Amino acid sequence: MENQLCDSCSLPLTPDVVAPKNVTQWKLCKYCVKDETGEMWSREEILTGIRDHFFIADQGMAEDAAQRAAEEALKKMPAWKDAE
Ligand SMILES: [Zn+2]
Repeated sequence: MENQLCDSCSLPLTPDVVAPKNVTQWKLCKYCVKDETGEMWSREEILTGIRDHFFIADQGMAEDAAQRAAEEALKKMPAWKDAE
């Protein structure tokens, strides 16, 4: 069984974080889709989430550095690498 990651935020997709409803072409965690519709959040919302919850809260980065790090991280995600 390959170790799957969320295509939007790279969170490891353990059974408890797999999106219960997902209408997109991507493999996504529950934090990257809207519960009710199964659609992915906007790039801006995902970016803010990664910045605040991972780079600032988890990694302890300052906000401007975290913003840049989040932008770089999204460029590598299958769901966002071709986005603006
Ligand atoms: Zn995700």
